[in-house]
Amino acid sequence: MGKKIAIKKNVLSENDRLAAEIRSELRERKIASLNLVSSPGSGKTSLLSHTLTALRDTVRIAVIVGDVETENDAERLRRTGAAIIRPITTGGACHLDARMVRRSLDTLDLDGIDLLCIENVGNLVCPASFDLGEDMKVVLISTTEGDDKPLKYPAMFRRSSLLVINKIDLLEFSEFDIEQVKQNARRINPDIETIELSCRTGEGLDGWYVWLQRIIARKKGA
Ligand code: MG
Ligand code: ZN
Repeated sequence: MGKKIAIKKNVLSENDRLAAEIRSELRERKIASLNLVSSPGSGKTSLLSHTLTALRDTVRIAVIVGDVETENDAERLRRTGAAIIRPITTGGACHLDARMVRRSLDTLDLDGIDLLCIENVGNLVCPASFDLGEDMKVVLISTTEGDDKPLKYPAMFRRSSLLVINKIDLLEFSEFDIEQVKQNARRINPDIETIELSCRTGEGLDGWYVWLQRIIARKKGA
């Protein structure tokens, strides 16, 4: 085995150990957890912003927001005044890892939290390789992107439980084929669920809230 590959394997196994530790803590506390992944600009922060506002009276949410530089997205979410927000600025790294999430969790009071959302760095490649201890990955794609993304980034779609298709209000202005993207995603991952919505018009957001409530209830019952 080459030295470089050996180092990478060690980094990943250390990551998996920490992720398992995070997962068991969240299980004990019955906190549902999502790792939101997408290309830059698909609408992760927008979706979270709407969610925090809509569910502020029914669900207690903590959000960890990863970005390469700036805390702009975390600031935007903080302005909703509806959740505990923790920014992680990776300083160049193009993904979050379990160590960063562990450090961030250590600054959070998790008592009474129902849902932990982790907004990953916008990137469909390496975040697929780093388990953060979440229950599931939610992958976002918007109608201004290519509907062949599931085929281009199969690892991410294979490891995601839900595909959120955002910006459906812009469908008429793009070549994006919604049936095609679903078909492509299911070719990679037959079990993947899909939700279509528009953060701008609000269409479909209720379906996303129902989905969230369901995974939170399932976690409480587990
Ligand atoms: Mg963002
Ligand atoms: Zn990366």
